Amino acid sequence: MDDRSQLTRRRGAIPAALAGLILLGAAGGAWTTARALHRERGHAPPAVASAEAAVVAARLQADAALLVTAGRSMAGVPRVSADLAALARSDPGASIGIGRPGASGAVLYTGTGGSRDALDLTAAPAWRVALEVARDGDQPVVAVGPGAPAGTDQTVMQALALYGPGAPPVDVTGRRQALLGYVVLMRPAASLLGALPGTGRNLAVELRSADGVLAASGSAPGRPAPPSSAASVVNVNGANWVVRAWSTGSPSRVPWVVLFAGLAVAAIGAAVVAGGEAESTRLARAATARSNELSLVARTGPLLQQSLELGDLLPRFVVEISDELDLDGVGISLVSDAGQLMRVFSLGVGEPAPVTDPSELSDPPASVPAAGVVTVPLQRGGRVVGALTARARSGLDGSQVETLRAVSDLLAAALGNARLLEDEQAMVVQLRDLDRLKTTFLGSVSHDLRTTVTAIEGFATLLATHGETFAEEQRTDFLQRIERNARSLGVLVEDLLDFARLERAGVSVTLQPVDLSELVPNVVDQMYSILGDRPLAVSVAPAVVARADPGAMERILINLLSNAAKYTPAGSAVTVSLERDGADAALCVSDRGAGIPPAERLRIFERFYRIDNEDANQVRGVGIGLALVRQLVDLQRGTVAVDDAPGGGARFRVTVPLDVVPAHREEELHVPAP
Ligand code: ADP
Repeated sequence: MDDRSQLTRRRGAIPAALAGLILLGAAGGAWTTARALHRERGHAPPAVASAEAAVVAARLQADAALLVTAGRSMAGVPRVSADLAALARSDPGASIGIGRPGASGAVLYTGTGGSRDALDLTAAPAWRVALEVARDGDQPVVAVGPGAPAGTDQTVMQALALYGPGAPPVDVTGRRQALLGYVVLMRPAASLLGALPGTGRNLAVELRSADGVLAASGSAPGRPAPPSSAASVVNVNGANWVVRAWSTGSPSRVPWVVLFAGLAVAAIGAAVVAGGEAESTRLARAATARSNELSLVARTGPLLQQSLELGDLLPRFVVEISDELDLDGVGISLVSDAGQLMRVFSLGVGEPAPVTDPSELSDPPASVPAAGVVTVPLQRGGRVVGALTARARSGLDGSQVETLRAVSDLLAAALGNARLLEDEQAMVVQLRDLDRLKTTFLGSVSHDLRTTVTAIEGFATLLATHGETFAEEQRTDFLQRIERNARSLGVLVEDLLDFARLERAGVSVTLQPVDLSELVPNVVDQMYSILGDRPLAVSVAPAVVARADPGAMERILINLLSNAAKYTPAGSAVTVSLERDGADAALCVSDRGAGIPPAERLRIFERFYRIDNEDANQVRGVGIGLALVRQLVDLQRGTVAVDDAPGGGARFRVTVPLDVVPAHREEELHVPAP
């Protein structure tokens, strides 16, 4: 494994561990919260119950103390006094009064402030029992009776027996005889329950006796205490009650807030970690992609060097880049000799439409969308040599476009090399052809030389040795043959000289003003003998001065007239004309022969090229004359072309620039005086 992937792994392990810890913490928090909720809901802290029980007991004892005080203030005689009224006011939740035994065992209650309630305290069984217990002891006794109005909380009554001044009788009988009445304190049972923090909101508390609920707070009416509630006993002055406390159904939101906050932190932590992880994964992927692209560039170089054959190169190259860059269509075009882009290879289903004009090419965009087409110019030495067009199935990002450019540069270099090879191969073929033609040329010339020289030699020897033996007529015939062969020899020698000129490292010309109006008729005069009986029409415009080489112009005219003589039948007319044509001098040689077929009109200017037809084959020649003409014309910055002469035959037209006096010199001559 390489360092980079190890690093990526190590980087990923830390956030993963952090995420694990956060989730563990959140799960622990949730569990703890759930437990706290469970405890709060089902198991109210026993402290609540015992605290509430203590409050109830304390109130009952305070009430008892009040009764004792009241009894003392009345000196043991039940009567409503100012002192009693003052005591009653000390606790507004309670009402305090006296109970006096009435007829048939009733005990009638009279409240403070002179009110005579005439409530029969014995009407409620519990109260009656309590009064009896109080009568027989010297302690206040507690009992619970019906509330008023009916249906409200129960009323707790506490009574202390009064026996008149002095110490109470010690025995029960004495007490029953001495009983004068009771000091009585009445209070709603509910007022016994203290308002503890949390009761009524999250806690329910109830006070119950053996007979049922005396008072409750914080609980929906009639709802029984759950079995899991906490209980504490109140045992004061005969009251044997139980306080129950439990958590109500609407617990504090704090645990939930804690739970959700924990989960949120965990989720954010997980998201951050996942984001970090995703980022490092993305970076790792980008690094892998970049390294793959670089390796594509590295692979492509040697691949393109494996062969210089385009047929080998292009398919392998295209397959390689298509795989790596996910291209579903690739086309490669090359600039043709005519300057147009020609598709030379394409592959893939989404083969993009080719661009044909190299000037339409521009730099590829920074990125390519999915299914987008991109064209990369293939450049060599700053010149466009072709174009690579690709369709990107899943798009290309910036670095992929750069990669495509890099491999395109490599391809352009390879194409340049392949083109060089092609050119070289073509050159080799050309040179081989040339060599073959040269051999043919030399063979033919030497054969012609031999036959011509042999003929001249033979007829000359015959005339020299046996001349007088022949008739006059025969001698003339021999002389004419010698003359014809000598002329042929002259042509052959000219051919050889032309050949030598062409073969020299370079035919050089010296450009100078040449009066063609004078030169042309002179050359024509020399050529009459060659043209034989062909009528020659010459038309020369006066004072046509060209910037040319006189020797070269002479050679050109001689070669054209020789061809007119060679390739036209005896007696057919030949025309030579010289005229101005704009800035050029135009020299035309026309004949009435077979002419040159349009397809051959360029090739006849190639070295050793001869038209392969019956007429031409009958004429001796080696295919050098016109090649030399073209070379000389080129050197003089002129042109040469052939077309049909009016009325049939070939018309060769040569132009060379007129010799013009430089304009600035004219201007100098005409500079007006200041
Ligand atoms: P050569 O005459 O020695 O063959 P050239 O280079 O002078 O070589 O001419 C090339 C070919 O062009 C000739 O072989 C001939 O076929 C053709 N040609 C040249 N001049 C004429 C002409 N005036 N009429 C017809 N064909 C011609």
